[in-house]
Amino acid sequence: MASDKTSVHSSGNGEAPHHQTWTPSSWKSKPIKQSAVYEDQKQVQKSLAKLNHLPPLVPFSEIDRLKDQLRKVAEREAFLLQGGDCAELFDYCTQDGIESKMKLLLQMSLILIWGSHKPIVRIARMAGQYAKPRSSPMEVVEGKEIPSFRGDILNGYKTDERSLDPERLVDAYFHSAATLNFMRGSISSGFADLHRPLDWGLGHVRDPELQKKYSNTVEQILDNLDFLRATGHDTGSRELSTVDLYTSHEALLLDYEQSLTRSHKHASSEQNQAANASGQEQNLFYDTSAHFVWVGDRTRQVDGAHIEFLRGIQNPIGIKVGPTTSSSDLLTLLRTLNPAVEVGKITLITRYGCGKVSTLLPEHIKTVETSEHASSVVWQCDPMHGNTRSTSTGTKTRQFADIFSELQQSIAIHKKAGSYLGGVHLEMTGEAVTECTGGSEGLDDDDLSLNYTSFCDPRLNEKQSVELAFMIASHLKE
Ligand code: PEP
Ligand code: MN
Repeated sequence: MASDKTSVHSSGNGEAPHHQTWTPSSWKSKPIKQSAVYEDQKQVQKSLAKLNHLPPLVPFSEIDRLKDQLRKVAEREAFLLQGGDCAELFDYCTQDGIESKMKLLLQMSLILIWGSHKPIVRIARMAGQYAKPRSSPMEVVEGKEIPSFRGDILNGYKTDERSLDPERLVDAYFHSAATLNFMRGSISSGFADLHRPLDWGLGHVRDPELQKKYSNTVEQILDNLDFLRATGHDTGSRELSTVDLYTSHEALLLDYEQSLTRSHKHASSEQNQAANASGQEQNLFYDTSAHFVWVGDRTRQVDGAHIEFLRGIQNPIGIKVGPTTSSSDLLTLLRTLNPAVEVGKITLITRYGCGKVSTLLPEHIKTVETSEHASSVVWQCDPMHGNTRSTSTGTKTRQFADIFSELQQSIAIHKKAGSYLGGVHLEMTGEAVTECTGGSEGLDDDDLSLNYTSFCDPRLNEKQSVELAFMIASHLKE
């Protein structure tokens, strides 16, 4: 368990905390939103002690490597693709479930490589996306008011499993570990070999036009690889035989995140050198529950517990930015979470909605790009969360055209402002679900009941996701 203290200093406009001591548990002295209040405190302590004892889920070195790759995104030399379920369930930890999501990420990244001629950084919303913020703590099911489903790490979706169960904290760790293990095993045995991209198939996408477009793209890539091989440039290099696939989730349940936060001495770090020069010993802390964690739209209060926790860890961090984010809060968040202005440390995940993006994004770009954080952030568009609506029968859905429009407008706004849209953040699945309307299949509200399986927000299906990847690729080509 990480118990050493470290000091994290925030510079800035006076709103950011100064010289306050950070510890993995200092968030507990701050006001918290979406907190988990358990009845069985004894079992909570038992679960947390177990988590403290277990090994990291991801190693420090991989977290550093991702941060390095995100620096390249911020420097406009790479593009970031992040995606997966809104709420990952323990039940999704199956061979088929994991493979279909990995395949989809690989297929989309291949299309993006072809479009952008840039390396793609892939981050899955997977292997730990088990905690969900909710707009209301209670909901009415069949006339009865019961606690809302808060994600498998807290309670179950079944109506008789809605009390918070502390044993789920440990279950979440083991489901993350099993998911990660299978992802790593698949990749190391050649699943992601770029020499065989047709093996990834197009799963449920039966649309002949999209199949053709995809095969043509793959053929072009294979032609280029043949050319490289013929000219002696591709000798089975690691770059083409395997990929890095990182994991991420919302850092919502801070007891869990704290338990997996570990200290590590980092000889080459500037902070450490400075500390050593002044005779102090200083450790750096990593949240080893995932490579990348983000703070959600509902928990990013500048003086709140979530920001307090996140300001002390070395991981790259995402911040959801939406219609309720003021420019001054945005600046305070950057100064609090990235006082050293490390390039690539922060990803701004913007999610306004297609009707608001044109008025709100330019202002946020101006705020960041005229501050000391200019060129240090990764701008990523989440075209999902500002575009959720309910049908007349109360089903949560999103219109493909709205998602497409927010993305298209974001690309154009960044181009005009001279900033770089470096990534997309999507809720998607490799299954043929019917949760978002529109797309070339033309799904309408009545079709949603055909195969609606999300337990939280509506996801793009494989076909809609691939269509979106082609659209982004064609913009990146310009
Ligand atoms: C999410 O990413 O699932 C989510 C809840 O997003 P936001 O915090 O942006 O609403
Ligand atoms: Mn969601």
